[in-house]
Amino acid sequence: MKTDVFIIGGGPGGAMSAMFLLREGIKPIILEQEEFPRFHIGESMTGEAGQVLRRLGLEDKMQAANYPVKHGVKVYGAEGVNSWFIPVSARSPEWKLSPGTTWQVRRSDFDGMILQESEVRGATAIRGKAVKALLGGDGAVRGVTMRHSDGRLEDIESEVVLDCSGLATFLANQRVTGPKYVGSYDKQIAFFTHVTGALRDSGSSGEEAKDNTLIFYRKKFHWAWFIPIDDQVVSLGLVVPTAVFQESGQTTEEFFHSYLPEINPGLKRRSLDIKLIEKVHVIPNYSYQVRRFCGKGFICIGDAHRFIDPIFSFGLSATMREAEFAVPHVLAYLGGKGRALPNPFAEHMVFCEKGADNLEDMVDLFWEQPFAFSGLVHRFYREEMIDAFAGRVYETEHQPSRAILAFRKMLARTREYENEDAYSIPIGSRFHPERAAIWEPNSPLPTTEDWMSSAPTF
Ligand SMILES: Cc1cc2nc3c(=O)[nH]c(=O)nc-3n(C[C@H](O)[C@H](O)[C@H](O)COP(=O)(O)OP(=O)(O)OC[C@H]3O[C@@H](n4cnc5c(N)ncnc54)[C@H](O)[C@@H]3O)c2cc1C
Repeated sequence: MKTDVFIIGGGPGGAMSAMFLLREGIKPIILEQEEFPRFHIGESMTGEAGQVLRRLGLEDKMQAANYPVKHGVKVYGAEGVNSWFIPVSARSPEWKLSPGTTWQVRRSDFDGMILQESEVRGATAIRGKAVKALLGGDGAVRGVTMRHSDGRLEDIESEVVLDCSGLATFLANQRVTGPKYVGSYDKQIAFFTHVTGALRDSGSSGEEAKDNTLIFYRKKFHWAWFIPIDDQVVSLGLVVPTAVFQESGQTTEEFFHSYLPEINPGLKRRSLDIKLIEKVHVIPNYSYQVRRFCGKGFICIGDAHRFIDPIFSFGLSATMREAEFAVPHVLAYLGGKGRALPNPFAEHMVFCEKGADNLEDMVDLFWEQPFAFSGLVHRFYREEMIDAFAGRVYETEHQPSRAILAFRKMLARTREYENEDAYSIPIGSRFHPERAAIWEPNSPLPTTEDWMSSAPTF
């Protein structure tokens, strides 16, 4: 089989890439290994993630499906009483700030809906697993070998491969990219489930809106999320350092139940009568960064190259926006541009990395100096922070803003981007150079499972 663009992964990165390509007349093939619907975490969107859906003409579908409308995020301090609120917002082409809304999504529904929509619009979605990258003599990616559900292997040739495989980081594990580094929050572990009976706010808009995201802070690296995903059900998640869980000697279910009332009195009050309707899922070691994630014939999008920390719900936003940003570069490449360059997508790569670095600076300052952070959010850099929380973190969006520059100063950090190989050294608040790379040049090829279980085993 041959195609112009082959997409690995039918999650939001894959489906959004496909829909933006289809708008330009390119009909991609999407490969997804799982049968949908399937459970997935990542349910709260930023304002700009909502805008991506609107640009793709999906607003009616989102409304028809009744996804909860998010007006903002409220972050509670350790006592569960004081809080700060960041509203969802939008910018006009003249850069005028206005209030906005976005959505919370149950991913099993949402991912199925957008994948199906990309097929309706002309993409071909096939089931199976990408198992090997096909490389040309010049090192360019020229397709993948996939395994069908009956075990049959097939080579699919393509001009461009978009790796949208999420945490599985397919091309990084195939060592097509540069090395995959441990990220700043790799020693964290998240426990999450869906519950009924949680007490939510009762307003219809603004700070008290019933479907807002609530974040509960306890202390450094200990926090919880509360995300309404329909009229009855709330997604609850706890995040702690992995060592805390290991020392507890508890099962994941036991730990979730015993730590939930401990993490914050505000969350305790809201979860007195909850009933779990989903098992407790766990993800450890989710923080990483892949270097040189674009190259001849390939671009990694979203989680396929970087994930920092879920606290401010930037994952979907970064993924969906990178999908949109990548498409003009893919079109130019298909038209012959940059074919002789060592990295035809270098400009796109550095652009995305700079945006992610801005997010990382913000998250790091929150963890390092939470009180200063809340003051800056409230008083000194209100508009800039409303932009950042909306996911407007890219160069074309007046970034890095005064706020991000101030954060860097407070973190005693500079960012250098002189050339495509000297950018974005992982420097998060818990970066350890001695264990930075998960593999050395001659070590055995790591698998996804190696990566996911590189610290604890459950
Ligand atoms: C604890 C936690 C909480 C989070 N909370 C939020 C949140 O509230 N808001 C938010 O915006 N983000 C959140 N995120 C991040 C969010 O989940 C991701 O950023 C988002 O799902 C990325 O989309 P994606 O398309 O890149 O990857 P995914 O959604 O993971 O999709 C990748 C797809 O690729 C498929 N695939 C993988 N390998 C292969 C292969 N070899 N062959 C074929 N198919 C393959 C997978 O089956 C999957 O369907 C959270 C993340 C974590 C870890």
